[in-house]
Amino acid sequence: MKPNKLFIAAGTATAAVAAVFAGPSLANHSWSNYHWSTTDGVARPDVVDNTVGSWPARVAIAMGDWNGSAHIQSATSAGTANAKRCPMASGTIQVCNSAYGQTGWLGIASISLSGGHIVAGSTKLNDTYFSYPQYNTETWKQLVTCQEIGHDYGLGHQNEDFSTDLTSSCMEYTSDPSGNEHPDKHDYDQLALIYNHSEGGGSTSSSGGSSGGPGNGGGKGKPLGIEPGDSPAQWGKAVGKDAAGRPNEFVRNFNGYTVITHVTWAPHVKVPAARE
Ligand SMILES: [Zn+2]
Ligand SMILES: [Zn+2]
Repeated sequence: MKPNKLFIAAGTATAAVAAVFAGPSLANHSWSNYHWSTTDGVARPDVVDNTVGSWPARVAIAMGDWNGSAHIQSATSAGTANAKRCPMASGTIQVCNSAYGQTGWLGIASISLSGGHIVAGSTKLNDTYFSYPQYNTETWKQLVTCQEIGHDYGLGHQNEDFSTDLTSSCMEYTSDPSGNEHPDKHDYDQLALIYNHSEGGGSTSSSGGSSGGPGNGGGKGKPLGIEPGDSPAQWGKAVGKDAAGRPNEFVRNFNGYTVITHVTWAPHVKVPAARE
């Protein structure tokens, strides 16, 4: 048990009440207000699950969690993309697992932005570290799956200090992942704040239900020619740090899109140097 969670939950409730009165400006763990364009406040990117082995079951649990938000309604389908490279495609969140090697990270989430909105997302899960005894647990694997997909909807972290365990949310850096496998109420409140507006029926890259291959004119599934890399050198400029001072957020222009990457470093790993 984590006795401090009760106390934090009470504080969070107070903050949520304050946020209702103050409006969206108090949104405190959106990912810089990144969000999918919607016409009705409900984000509907297709989740394309390219994972293999035991991972599809975790993706299904995470999507059950995120679809529990009134502001997310994503269908999941099995993917055919190169599961290791996880190339982005419009209107979709691609989810991949592979042994990416000793990259330092358990998982990364990338989003491609265009016109101020998320137009594609991807999540990579690193089997190399998940085979280490300390991370080869359902709790670690579920937390990271939940967290990276949560980033792809525009959520940030509630807490970025791996030495503490302040919430019951998967959107937290912690060294004690037990009890953090799912979103908490604050995450759902945050999604409500992020998606409490619509784009008024203008052009939206995520409307329509067609899921096609190359050249289907901007609908879902159009490849963007963007493959999130595996190292800081490929993610671009460091623009954010975790509580230990490790760069954990990167930005890069790629094929005309702004690509932002959030990194979950393995807590024990010394992080490679990054461009600043
Ligand atoms: Zn918007
Ligand atoms: Zn994260």
